[in-house]
Amino acid sequence: MPLPLTVTLWGVRGSIPAPGPETARYGGNTSCVAVEAGRRTLIFDAGTGIRALGRALAEGTDPVFLLVTHHHWDHIQGFPFFWPIYQPEREVHLIPYHHDSTVLDSLLGQMDGARFPVRPEHLKSRLRRVAEEPVTYLRGCGFGVSQLEVNHPGGCHGYRIEGATGDVVHIPDNELEPPGPKTVSFERLVEFCAGAAVLIHDAQYLPADMPLKHGWGHSVVEHVLQLAAAARVGRVVLFHHDPDRSDAQVDVIQAQARAWLAAHAPGVECDAAAEGMQFTV
Ligand SMILES: [Zn+2]
Ligand SMILES: [Zn+2]
Repeated sequence: MPLPLTVTLWGVRGSIPAPGPETARYGGNTSCVAVEAGRRTLIFDAGTGIRALGRALAEGTDPVFLLVTHHHWDHIQGFPFFWPIYQPEREVHLIPYHHDSTVLDSLLGQMDGARFPVRPEHLKSRLRRVAEEPVTYLRGCGFGVSQLEVNHPGGCHGYRIEGATGDVVHIPDNELEPPGPKTVSFERLVEFCAGAAVLIHDAQYLPADMPLKHGWGHSVVEHVLQLAAAARVGRVVLFHHDPDRSDAQVDVIQAQARAWLAAHAPGVECDAAAEGMQFTV
């Protein structure tokens, strides 16, 4: 029986942090989502949102699990500022999307003395570089997850996590309609997301960003809504906001998305992702 999950968004911005008065409401920190199941926390990605999450976790002593969906900067750059890695004896499990611990070199390699002053060997925590298959490993640790490789230059993985009253799907970066051959079809994604209570999905772009950014690995909002509608999810959360998008612009995107869903898939709720947003399933 899956445990109740509390999902908290700590970083919702794509590409690069975008602090400032124009992004203060939705937040300027890059990708970081935490899933709490009982006393255990599974973190998806180490964008700059992980800094504030680390401060919150520093109050406790339970093991933390950090899964990296891929190596792009906006998913690893907050890692050296994640406080639990400095806590003596704190257990931190670093889980790559692929069962090969060298995959974690992107995370730890940035702490090489040149790009960051502290090296991994000087950390006081008990860092465990997981080299096992991630889904099996996480299931063994009490997290019911499944994984799917999605359409993104350099690769990226989406996850479905089982909660007590419904599932959460988190697909941080994915281009639903890329210009070249697809890693995963729209139909397969519909299957993966089917009936989820919450779908958090990359929705960085608008039609006006195309054709320039076609192939950069991120979805146009309307394609994400089509996925949410076809998969009959309960709620779709538009994630990975463009760093140039102001709060006022995100408000408009959210309003238009809600209007599209009301017309095409009534019953599917929609929010633009914002730092601090929480869902319980
Ligand atoms: Zn990204
Ligand atoms: Zn990426």
